[in-house]
Amino acid sequence: MSNLTGKTALITGASRGIGRATALALAKSGAQVLIHYSSARNEADAVVEDIRKAGGRAEKLGVDLGTPTGPHELAKQVRTIIGDRLDILVANAGISKAASIEETTIEDFDQLFAVNVRAPYFLVQQLLATMCSGSTIIFTSSLAARAAVGNLSAYAATKGAIDTLVKHLAASLGTRGIRVNAVAPGVVETDMSNFTKAEEGRNLTLGMQALKRIAQPDDIAGAVAFLASDEARWITGDTLRVDGGSKL
Ligand code: NAD
Repeated sequence: MSNLTGKTALITGASRGIGRATALALAKSGAQVLIHYSSARNEADAVVEDIRKAGGRAEKLGVDLGTPTGPHELAKQVRTIIGDRLDILVANAGISKAASIEETTIEDFDQLFAVNVRAPYFLVQQLLATMCSGSTIIFTSSLAARAAVGNLSAYAATKGAIDTLVKHLAASLGTRGIRVNAVAPGVVETDMSNFTKAEEGRNLTLGMQALKRIAQPDDIAGAVAFLASDEARWITGDTLRVDGGSKL
């Protein structure tokens, strides 16, 4: 499959987990990929290396997206590499924190919204000038926005905000031919959801899914690659559940 040949793609939080798998999938489909990372420079180097070894094109960019100006800085760096045309923006970087409302601090709440909502919002704003008809934005939502799973109210609220942004930005950017969607993974075995490594966590996860295995980052990356492709040209304003039939 090489349907993204000639396209440029930025994937935030691509040094590991779902972002890494997405970067590999988009590169395999022919896109030139920009691997954004926060502090894991070595891991980002390894992703770039993997892609180049397979004959693909990749560069890395390190920026903390938790600061108010992080998205602006990242957009600036992106423009120096790709010039004035970005075809695919995958806003994947995110943090989570399991805590009840009683336990959640103002600092945790603000940090969750800074990384999961403020950063993708202003990244889109800062990169809009590089996006044109056919460009596409893919946000990362979560099962948690749709169903009360875990002790995740503040995190879930950030993902609910993403689902709302998808609709509003799809409506406003559609006139420019830009599609905006999100994927909503269920539980995926990554550093974020490492409770799946323990038996209790696995059983809890399998108990709420129709499909009885634990999702891997690749399971999400394929759906992102689909949304990024021309096969999804008539899909916009949607949050695609990619969760093995969780909480049906
Ligand atoms: P992960 O922890 O493995 O990866 C998160 C990525 O975000 C990392 O690359 C990290 O460096 C980056 N990041 C975090 N804080 C950052 C900051 N301040 N600045 C820049 N980058 C930062 O987790 P993952 O599971 O791969 O998560 C990817 C996305 O998928 C997140 O948006 C997450 O909310 C979402 N998601 C994950 C699951 C799951 O079960 N793993 C389920 C639903 C949604």
